[in-house]
Amino acid sequence: MAEDKKGLVIGIDLGTTYSCVAVWQQQHNRVEIIHNDQGNNTTPSCVAFTDHERLIGDATTNQAALNPENTIFDAKRLIGRKYSDPLVQKDKMLWPFKVVSGVNDKPMISVKYKGQEKILSAEEVSSMILSKMRDIAEAYLEKPVKNAVVTVPAYFNDSQRKATMDAGAIIGLNVIRIINEPTAAAIAYGLDKRNDCVGGRNIFVFDFGGGTFDVSILTIETKVFQVKATAGNTHLGGEDIDNRMMNYFVEEMKRKSKVDISGNPRALRRLKSACERAKRTLSYAVTANIEVDNLFEGIDLYSSITRAKFEQINYDLFEECMYTVDSCLRDAKIEKNSVHEVVLVGGSSRIPKMQQLLQDFFNGKDLCKSVNPDEAVAYGAAVQAALLSEGIKNVPDLVLKDVTPLSLGISVKGDLMSVVIPRNTTIPIKKKQVFLTCEDDQFSVKIMVYEGERVKDSDNNLLGSFSISGFPPAPRGYPFGVTFAINENGILSVSAEEKVTGNRNEIIISNDKGRLSNAEISIMIKEAENYKSEDEKFLKKANAMNDLDDLVYKIGKALKREDISSKLSWKEKEDIMSKISRATDIVLNALESLVVSMKKLLYRDVDYQ
Ligand code: ADP
Ligand code: MG
Repeated sequence: MAEDKKGLVIGIDLGTTYSCVAVWQQQHNRVEIIHNDQGNNTTPSCVAFTDHERLIGDATTNQAALNPENTIFDAKRLIGRKYSDPLVQKDKMLWPFKVVSGVNDKPMISVKYKGQEKILSAEEVSSMILSKMRDIAEAYLEKPVKNAVVTVPAYFNDSQRKATMDAGAIIGLNVIRIINEPTAAAIAYGLDKRNDCVGGRNIFVFDFGGGTFDVSILTIETKVFQVKATAGNTHLGGEDIDNRMMNYFVEEMKRKSKVDISGNPRALRRLKSACERAKRTLSYAVTANIEVDNLFEGIDLYSSITRAKFEQINYDLFEECMYTVDSCLRDAKIEKNSVHEVVLVGGSSRIPKMQQLLQDFFNGKDLCKSVNPDEAVAYGAAVQAALLSEGIKNVPDLVLKDVTPLSLGISVKGDLMSVVIPRNTTIPIKKKQVFLTCEDDQFSVKIMVYEGERVKDSDNNLLGSFSISGFPPAPRGYPFGVTFAINENGILSVSAEEKVTGNRNEIIISNDKGRLSNAEISIMIKEAENYKSEDEKFLKKANAMNDLDDLVYKIGKALKREDISSKLSWKEKEDIMSKISRATDIVLNALESLVVSMKKLLYRDVDYQ
């Protein structure tokens, strides 16, 4: 599937906090970042459920503080992870929405939609955001879009990549290629400069977003973009900085106002928005005010934070970023003074302290700010999409060579992980290694596939396991071959073969426990269609209400004019009156349910205390 060129392909940056969509414009020979219906180039990766409708993107923002339990953000932080993952447990404490454990330890989000409980996987939430991005592209291009290149953090593992592809499948969007976010950003930087890069230029991409942190070092030489090494943390970003600020103000309120607001979703959600705004302010000002009226039990929060304090409470996060920068360069065996350009990507790369640490690290080198940090990833994805589209003219001529972020191998005697493909190996790749049996007359072997950098197998991430059997009786040390193959999307398949009998077994690590089965995806596809048709119905109803309202207004106005009123027959007057009374009924019904919702919202705090 992945290799088919299938007509028009768009590029989607599916971010933790913001998503962006772009397309290659062949008429103009350039990438177009597509704005959404609000005129914004990025769309919040947020989905909300109310008593009446489902909202995605900008539409969720205004209701988030009133409806925090049913406004889902950060779903990318859950994708491809287990519920018991300590990071999931930690995030859960600060999220106002409910996360529960599903089948096979899969984290599931529980929301209330139209008065009923709905349980959603992270893939489903991501699919809703992808569907919004596709809608944005379709509205702009005025034609259906079936295929997309979707970006993921370079440090995403095998399960996180596959889960992202599943998210596309749920809404019938073919994710024809997964590419790494910093690599995509490097394309945005290097596209116009690639022909000047004779002799090779080393580009360091620093991508610090909302939920993830990634760095990559690439060499651009004429048309070849070769990633040398990548490193990162799939759980470090602006959201962590917001959380630090929230904790700071929660503690301050405990001290000054003697109240504890942690545990109150509404107050936390409002505080989070205020902290995020203050954080942005601190990127250009040295102090920021925080003002939230009636945050909790009638108490207002009027406070401020200085840039120095902000830097102090987040310093270890910035240091961790710098540690990753250093280790990436060491992996690539490139000296920092051989780096020609340091490219900043992601909203959090705007933080002055972060920029200063980075600049100091590169001995005072000017940082490149020529690419738009919010759009560069989608830009690069659109270029890759053009390369994979069918019948597109003026496609830029470039070759992308990426690497695998984590070492892959199997468990061997002594509970060790024997690496078959080391991290930072260029993909696609196929590699065969011969292993030996550990016991005399061993009939079969169980092959346990791991990813990670630790020596002990169980300290790494188990991707899946399978067995081959039918070995002939032989002393221990009998050989069998294991082949690892990673495709262009960074997705792994493993096979094992025993030479003499020719027995062979293979897994594409697709059936590991966390992944959605085909049956589950089919159910979710149906659900996605239901959501869509419900959204459409809601929109239709809302439009009809508006039309009726307009009609009542116009008729009312017309009737006030003596000349029209006197010309109307009794029958016509009756007709108008019945239309008005029907319209009134609809409006009254709507008002009634509005009153019910308002009641629920107004008295909801009572339940929490
Ligand atoms: P992602 O791709 O992970 O969704 P983005 O690259 O869109 O993330 O960056 C979003 C993050 O950047 C958010 O945490 C946001 O608060 C932060 N951010 C945006 N602008 C600024 C700024 N001026 N200063 C500090 N942080 C910012
Ligand atoms: Mg991003």
